[in-house]
Amino acid sequence: MYDIKTKLHEVLSQLPEGVRLVAISKYHPADYVMAAYEEGQRVFGESHEQEIREKHAALPKDIEWHFIGHLQTNKVKLIVPYISMIEAVDSLKLLREIQKQAQKADRVVRVLLELHIAQEATKYGLTLDACRELLAGGEWRQMPNVRICGLMMMASNTDDEAKIAQEFQTAASFFDEVKARFFADSPDFCERSWGMSDDYLLAVSHRSTMVRIGTMIFGPRVY
Ligand SMILES: *Cc1c(COP(=O)(O)O)cnc(C)c1O
Repeated sequence: MYDIKTKLHEVLSQLPEGVRLVAISKYHPADYVMAAYEEGQRVFGESHEQEIREKHAALPKDIEWHFIGHLQTNKVKLIVPYISMIEAVDSLKLLREIQKQAQKADRVVRVLLELHIAQEATKYGLTLDACRELLAGGEWRQMPNVRICGLMMMASNTDDEAKIAQEFQTAASFFDEVKARFFADSPDFCERSWGMSDDYLLAVSHRSTMVRIGTMIFGPRVY
């Protein structure tokens, strides 16, 4: 088995205080999660509803599960009862459904708004203007069961470091803008989720508070 424990500690030792690791365990078996869990890791991320549901059922209940993938509205009710954070909210429609299901489950669900900044990395996410519009619309203020905790984004999948740095910089500046405009009085709005296996050090230097790392810890995924 890939040396998960060594890799985990290697990654953790590089993260400055205040930056949390979300260990991305998608496509890896539950015993990989357990190997990291035994070293103290408690936050894991998954991108498919069925897989996260199965792992949640099989693994210790003090794990905080983050949903990091594109979430279809019809899947929201399945994950809302146990999810710790939904990282990739990219529409008002999805936000409404999370509110509805969270209310039914009588809980507050923490979410991040996903930005679309990279050119090719994903077809999902809000453009900066769409994100401004969603927040300016104000409907989210009437959602007592949804807590918007910050922003999430993926940088371009490229070797061009300057380009990646520029995208992180754009996200960081945008965070400051919306923080000042919409969340100045809300300490909950504090998370900047960027950085993956290939770019997390760069992300941290651009004020990431949460890195989502899979391959570097668990090895290559077998799809
Ligand atoms: C898979 C995935 C990651 C982790 O990617 P690695 O390159 O394996 O670290 C991070 N964020 C999202 C949204 C992902 O889908």
